[in-house]
Amino acid sequence: MRKILVVALLLVLSTVMNGDRLIRIPAQTDSDFSEVRDMGYEIASGSRAEGWVDVMVSQRFVDETMQIFPDAKLLPLEWSELLPRTDNSEMGYYYGPNDNAVFWTNLAETNDMVDTPTSYGTSFQGRDLQFIRITNAPAGAPAILFTALTHGREPGSNSVVIDWAQWLTTEYGSDTVATFILDNAQIYIIPIVNPDGYAENSPGGGNQRKNMNFTAGGDGVDINRNYSYMWGYDDSGSSPYPSSQTYRGTAPLSEPETLAETIWIDSIEPLGGFHYHTYGGYLLYPWGYNNTPTPHQSTFESWGNQMTELNGYECGRAGDILYDVNGDAVDWSYGESTHEPMLFFTPEVDESNFWSSQNDTTAIVNFCADCRYMNKLLCMNLLSMVGIEEAGSAEVNGSSFELALGSNPVSAVLSYTVTGAVPTAMSVLDVAGRVVATPAGESWAIPADLQNGVYFLRAENGSRSVSQRFTILR
Ligand SMILES: [Zn+2]
Repeated sequence: MRKILVVALLLVLSTVMNGDRLIRIPAQTDSDFSEVRDMGYEIASGSRAEGWVDVMVSQRFVDETMQIFPDAKLLPLEWSELLPRTDNSEMGYYYGPNDNAVFWTNLAETNDMVDTPTSYGTSFQGRDLQFIRITNAPAGAPAILFTALTHGREPGSNSVVIDWAQWLTTEYGSDTVATFILDNAQIYIIPIVNPDGYAENSPGGGNQRKNMNFTAGGDGVDINRNYSYMWGYDDSGSSPYPSSQTYRGTAPLSEPETLAETIWIDSIEPLGGFHYHTYGGYLLYPWGYNNTPTPHQSTFESWGNQMTELNGYECGRAGDILYDVNGDAVDWSYGESTHEPMLFFTPEVDESNFWSSQNDTTAIVNFCADCRYMNKLLCMNLLSMVGIEEAGSAEVNGSSFELALGSNPVSAVLSYTVTGAVPTAMSVLDVAGRVVATPAGESWAIPADLQNGVYFLRAENGSRSVSQRFTILR
């Protein structure tokens, strides 16, 4: 019975059309997930830990699917499709293509730190591929990149980078983290990696995930399976069939969107960044093509755990959380031989589904705040790696005088050790060099009235002093 249905479903499930519905199927183990996938279902998201997988099916196969999986749940229509709004906006409370053009142009016009949107290439249908740079740092400062809308039906990823740009530019000069980041890094943003797919969904939303290159006979190429590193390694989460939602294209970087983007990224050489997607509430890091650790596993893991401590996102490799994927952007960013390893993560923004926050500004505000916290921590961690620090050691009477921090950033207690000499004074300075506190003991409870931000801890011994930068983030 199940077998017959499977064959019928395989033929039709792979093409996504309007009127699609999402169904949440209970799934806990690897074999639960592969069973669903092998039946030809398009997996929208899922979590082994939480025990579910969402599949997108066209309206006429809803009943069959519910029969195959009697414990499945039909999710609300507005979670898979944008419903019409009365205010005539493009995408509900998300920013549509025109909303984006207006937002980024205005931001550049009203803020000296924001460059006018600049083209790095042309999409399959001839649209401009654009990046925005925000910085107050000297030329040559390290780059950090944030991308969104690689998949055309994931508008929440775009809300996050818009919020991030707005926060950085608004808070510059008052929030010391924003100030520190823009004074020391070049922040690059690609708000729409896949403008053709997004335009196809506009106005009013839709389910176009891939780009709009139909020349292979299907309905587009999955940009996030078309990157060159380990492209087509196997067929797990990446398909050779043009009708599949994870069709990887005819060759590595066959698509204008990936080719132009990778050439441009290699030209700015970011230290790392986030390739934003939706949905589910995860933070993924490489390797994606097979579930093995990279040489930077401990960094990915410790940063990942730190960044997800407050928002509760599940953190790990794609294969830990869902299933392996090859040809995606994080593997390329980390592994491709055209550049040094770039420390990129893929956050899957915590929404209920692709369009679930369309009429819910509270949901958008909340997931943007969750992601903003991760953005700040990522930047602070990446900038620490390039040595934007004060000297941590000095010579005192022929021996080394050193100050070492415990964990950083800190939320409640700053721990540190001083070796080589007994400090005659300890102080905490803000980025303007003003003493704002005088800690005592090597485990110092941070006063509640000390704002979140970037500070220096300084130890003095006679005419020598050593300091270390730390960040308070609660
Ligand atoms: Zn995606």
